[in-house]
Amino acid sequence: MKIVRFAWEGETRYGLVEKDVVYAVEGDVFGAFEEGERVGALSEVRLLAPCTPTKIVAVGLNYAEHAAEAHRELPTEPLIFLKPPSAVIGAGQTIAYPPISQRVDYEAELAVVIGRRTRNVSVSEALGCVLGYTCGNDVTARDLQFEDGQWTRSKSFDTFCPLGPWIVTGLDPGDLAIESRVNGQVRQRSRTSDMIFPVAELVHYVAQVMSLQPGDVILTGTPAGVGPLQRGDRVEVEIEGIGLLANPVS
Ligand code: MG
Repeated sequence: MKIVRFAWEGETRYGLVEKDVVYAVEGDVFGAFEEGERVGALSEVRLLAPCTPTKIVAVGLNYAEHAAEAHRELPTEPLIFLKPPSAVIGAGQTIAYPPISQRVDYEAELAVVIGRRTRNVSVSEALGCVLGYTCGNDVTARDLQFEDGQWTRSKSFDTFCPLGPWIVTGLDPGDLAIESRVNGQVRQRSRTSDMIFPVAELVHYVAQVMSLQPGDVILTGTPAGVGPLQRGDRVEVEIEGIGLLANPVS
């Protein structure tokens, strides 16, 4: 199932996509719902970020080759940090290059969307707390990340958390191809099976610390190949079984 969030006649709604047609969701996508009336063709609907997280928990250095390119030791437990909900944008929305940074990087990441309130969940139960998966881009002002020595400012600019285009349910996140492209050129290409800590362990780890709410997002780390964006670029994140998240940069 593909779940979208979209703007329609002045309202924000959830929908289901089937064969490029959007149907309204009647009920609660995080609870009980059913498919309602036909809304329109996917191309006629303005998609928004597919969820509205209360927080985005991101994981650093979760692919060995990326840790190596960053000249960092492999973590012995997940390295987590937060991005603010104000950074979230949807597919097609513009990443705004901040005037105070000279180096803004893309980071393609599998995004986990939590389906219900989750706290202290075992690894074996963790995937049962997930609604589904979408594509994420952990956009980072790399110069400010190095300058500050911690990551809040560099990871938190408005528009620095593209998510979308939709949430796919019923997907096994264990071994999906993940790729990023800038202006059509491949920059990152890996598989989620190369994660150091897989999704279930990440959900378990984070939920030991904080309550996860429906719609909260865990960004699961980026593969090797991170690099800079320029104004005028178009950056794409594509994940097997999910789809394509594309955003212009200005
Ligand atoms: Mg990242």
